[in-house]
Amino acid sequence: MDIIKSIEHGLDQLDSDRGAWDELKLHISDLGIWSGLEEGDRKCPRSLWYRLNGLPKEPFTAGEKLMFLQGHRLEELVVEMLDMSVLLATQVPVRIDDLPGVSVIGAADIVMTKRSGDAVVIDVKTRRGNSFKYSKSVKPAEKMQVLGYAYALRGCVEGKISGMILEVDREGQNFCRVWEFGIRTGEYLSVIDAVKELLEIKTMKKPPDGFEPTLIRGKNKGADSLKLNIPWQCRWCKYAKTTCDYCPTQEIFEQHGKVVGHISDSGEINGENYMINLAIQ
Ligand code: SF4
Repeated sequence: MDIIKSIEHGLDQLDSDRGAWDELKLHISDLGIWSGLEEGDRKCPRSLWYRLNGLPKEPFTAGEKLMFLQGHRLEELVVEMLDMSVLLATQVPVRIDDLPGVSVIGAADIVMTKRSGDAVVIDVKTRRGNSFKYSKSVKPAEKMQVLGYAYALRGCVEGKISGMILEVDREGQNFCRVWEFGIRTGEYLSVIDAVKELLEIKTMKKPPDGFEPTLIRGKNKGADSLKLNIPWQCRWCKYAKTTCDYCPTQEIFEQHGKVVGHISDSGEINGENYMINLAIQ
């Protein structure tokens, strides 16, 4: 018996038992593509277009599947441990369909209602140890997700709604942490904007622009160094190797974070040809 193969098989089974996440539908987490966010903070609209159009993507490795399953299980465990004496609802289904032609679905991890009638919409995120350590505030794309739940739930809550990200360290060096934020009614406008952008992407005939690598200029005594930065969105993207023509070759991909050239005070660049058209930060 091949134990590894058997675990892989069991993993696929557990995965399919969870029920497939419908890739062809728009989800509240997709609101993170909103163009009002900084490029480094937002999700890639091009990869969303690829997903909605069912384009080929690299399959998840067994290790990645195990990591996601572990994350989901840990989220469920944390929710189970919450003190149920406060009024909590979990996995609350929501839908934004007040704009014609588009419906965005999702489920809020936790909605906590206070005695005052105010509510807190909580999204649970598990992070790897280092990612937990370096997280210093609410991630804008995750805040958009919580804003989306709050927007969808606003008619069902008597009082004010605030948001919270509950971060859980997956590796055990740390424990849990929360980022809480108030929600101004005006912030719901960003949700409406984002929903309009989702509709636009859904109806596009060609994929929208994606993200390109950049060069980060490091100050030196001599010529400044140029370090290659592949956007994080592309480094994690399953369409990078199969579909996206924005994406650099594997060889270039492997140069991420490395000094790939220099630039003199007069702006003369030396390095590989592919660098010439890249933006320098
Ligand atoms: S490789 Fe980068 S630009 Fe292309 S779809 Fe993925 S994230 Fe977007």
